Amino acid sequence: MVALWKININPTKTVCMLFSKKANPDNNFVVKLNNDIIKLSTHHKHLGLWLTNNVSWKKHISEIATKARKRLGCLKLHSFRMSRRSLELCYLTFVRPVMEYGNVMYDSASDEDLNILSEIEKDAMRTITGARKKCNLDKLYKEFKWPTLAVRRANQKITTLGKIIIKNYPPYLVRDLPTFYRDSRTNRKNTFATPTCTKDYYVKSFIPSSIALWNDLPYNVRTCQSYDSLKNRIKSMSLNNVPDYYYHGSRLCNILHCRLRLGCSNLNADKYLIGISNTDLCDCGERETAEHYLLDCGIELEKRVKMLDSILDVLKNKGLSDDRIDQIFGADLLLYGSGELDINENTSIFEAVQLFLWESDRL
Ligand SMILES: [Zn+2]
Repeated sequence: MVALWKININPTKTVCMLFSKKANPDNNFVVKLNNDIIKLSTHHKHLGLWLTNNVSWKKHISEIATKARKRLGCLKLHSFRMSRRSLELCYLTFVRPVMEYGNVMYDSASDEDLNILSEIEKDAMRTITGARKKCNLDKLYKEFKWPTLAVRRANQKITTLGKIIIKNYPPYLVRDLPTFYRDSRTNRKNTFATPTCTKDYYVKSFIPSSIALWNDLPYNVRTCQSYDSLKNRIKSMSLNNVPDYYYHGSRLCNILHCRLRLGCSNLNADKYLIGISNTDLCDCGERETAEHYLLDCGIELEKRVKMLDSILDVLKNKGLSDDRIDQIFGADLLLYGSGELDINENTSIFEAVQLFLWESDRL
């Protein structure tokens, strides 16, 4: 396939590109315009997307990754001055949109290229929380409750396909879609006929992959009558908000508390796990885990008792029975809060824990 871009009225500045997946494309290909030979180009930026003659997204991903890294670098400069909420807002507003421009198109890129963007997001998550480089990634994703970039790309593909179906736009794409069984008596499920794909890169391209995702959607989502309701349902499928009290406290205390949750604190058990300490033991001789530090350690006993008493008061004021208090009183309550408590009660618990973290000066 050949594409031509007339960049300038001067034919010497007009370029064309021969798209080919062949290992040895025909380099002797000649395109003429008014008897002038048009220069063959290997890459070209069109509507913000970097297109390359070998139909690869490597160049586009490399360009957006460079731009996103620069912006993330600015955030890192202020990562200890700005609050977690401000950093998160800046990332979601200024960095992630850069990485997601054209994501329904470049989703067919190689895993190696897509991983470059995932690594930037992980770096951003660490910057926002103050986590260390080697922290547990599962815990990091749970901390944010964000869908991964891959899930977001899949959702974006579904909503884009929904826009094409529901709004009938753009017409040339609607024309080219496979059979859609909208009103057929034999198939009321609002599914598409699956296109025949013989090549891997075609399976991963927009129309076949979006159709596969669309056909797997729950029935009530596939049958949405308006584009807005489809968009909202897709959004709600992966929406899981971070509790408000996770943002509580001064920046330093918030980081220390978060590092305890993520298992990347200065406690010996955490440091031993990532190989930066020779021992996982506390000065008192027990294993220095978050649970030991918060609940059991004999060192800084007075400060710990003060914290635990404050937390106990919150639970008693809530009206919980002694048995229920025994059940929920533990390291998890101090680190993650409890769904049984409201936001003010959880915030009071976080405040007491963070005061202890600050006063004990161990982290
Ligand atoms: Zn101890």
